[in-house]
Amino acid sequence: MQINKKIFVLSLLVSSALVFTACDKNKGADAQTNNKTSELAATSQTQEQTSKEANREKVNNEEIINVDGFLSADDIAIAQQLRDEALKSSKGYSIVESLTTEVGPRMAGTAGDAAAVVWGEAKLKELGFDKVWKEPVTFKTWKRGIETAEVVAPFPQPLVITALGFSIGTAPEGLSAEIKAYDTLDDLKKAPENDAKGKIVFIKYRMKKARDGSGYGPAVAARGSGAVEAAKKGAVGILIRSIGTDSHRMAHTGMMRYSAEVQKIPAAALSAPDADLLENMLNRDKPVTVKMTLGAYDGPEYTSYNVIGEITGSEKPEEYVLIGGHLDSWDLGTGALDDGAGIAITAAAAELISRLPERPKRSIRVVMFANEEQGLVGARAYAEAHKDELHNIITAAESDFGAGPIWRIDSRVKPEALPVAKKIAELLKPLGIKYGNNRAGGGPDLIPLRQKGISVFSLRQDGTDYFDFHHTPDDTLDKINKEHLDQNTAAYVVFAYLAAQMEGDFGQKVE
Ligand SMILES: [Zn+2]
Repeated sequence: MQINKKIFVLSLLVSSALVFTACDKNKGADAQTNNKTSELAATSQTQEQTSKEANREKVNNEEIINVDGFLSADDIAIAQQLRDEALKSSKGYSIVESLTTEVGPRMAGTAGDAAAVVWGEAKLKELGFDKVWKEPVTFKTWKRGIETAEVVAPFPQPLVITALGFSIGTAPEGLSAEIKAYDTLDDLKKAPENDAKGKIVFIKYRMKKARDGSGYGPAVAARGSGAVEAAKKGAVGILIRSIGTDSHRMAHTGMMRYSAEVQKIPAAALSAPDADLLENMLNRDKPVTVKMTLGAYDGPEYTSYNVIGEITGSEKPEEYVLIGGHLDSWDLGTGALDDGAGIAITAAAAELISRLPERPKRSIRVVMFANEEQGLVGARAYAEAHKDELHNIITAAESDFGAGPIWRIDSRVKPEALPVAKKIAELLKPLGIKYGNNRAGGGPDLIPLRQKGISVFSLRQDGTDYFDFHHTPDDTLDKINKEHLDQNTAAYVVFAYLAAQMEGDFGQKVE
């Protein structure tokens, strides 16, 4: 009987998802029809009617999310209380203020990294976590050194650049060569052999702004593999237009990679206005010569730490909900958005749960991952260190997309547990959050865990402005809005608490 009821609810949810799609299409159709002739008015009206009916059905379906056997009325009432409490807590802001003020830049393998680990342990203890510990993460390091560039001819003037992570340096006297421009990385790949022989390649591609950050994927490949592709065409260096969406005279750093078979060449990003400037010079059909000087080099191996805090569960302490962010940042800013905010939101959410009179049934673990920026190194170390007990992770979510308000929640759970995901989403509705789909990614540091089948959730933040600041000197505390941070904490606290309380599980599925 119980099973039948669940299947019934599930089939309703599936049909409701279909209604959503149809409904959205109708809205688009309505908007277009309004601009057309009156002959079409009748059709439009019918569509509107259908749309209204669909809406009514949607509301009705949402009202019958049945979580019997998963969550109790008490669980839900406490989650609501925690959510409302979070909205007036400001705890998240005080944590990120502390990290950016007392530590600041914390690139992997620097003194800032070491200071962040000390800070993380002390902060989690101060917040009252039941257990706090650290786990080693070892990696190769990279040092930035000086970075300057200038146009030598035809119109000499300075340029603002920054080296890409793991770029080699130039000779101390710098590298001077003519610029060879390409619209995209693909154009460079398609170019004939030796097309950039002896030149500095310039990739002009402009990243597009989007709330969900979808402009990043198509843009970032130029940063990651531009140097390899340019070297294949005979280039001696590469400059890319920064992977960012701002118009400030600051360049965006980030990781790049070499290939063992291809000559290593120095790689840097130009600020957006300087990329514009180069384009304008190139439009004059005269050779443009640039000199760049990078002092970057590979440093020694270094051991940092994943810093972990736990609120220990009362009934199943070995099982846990994993939330967190990454503790490292790039070296240019103070890493307020990337990812001080994620550390702050998730630690603040767990701290709120620790203030309840009783511990939740399962544990809540906040993981401050080491060295995300230079290759998810802390994330891989965590997955490896805990590979024999991954079944204990009930679900996980990482906050690593700045500090904008959350607008959508996606899940990755077995079909039978979907009502719990929908119930969490329903409790987040007053925060302006809607349910998305069951294909959540979970966050970069959760990739190694997700690949091993762990259930994850994505609490998706508004990232419209995120790439204005990402990996620049401008990633600083003033970009964080306290209310938005509280909204994030409120969403994480509902998610973490209900996942810790639920009966049954979200399932695990190896990708
Ligand atoms: Zn990040």
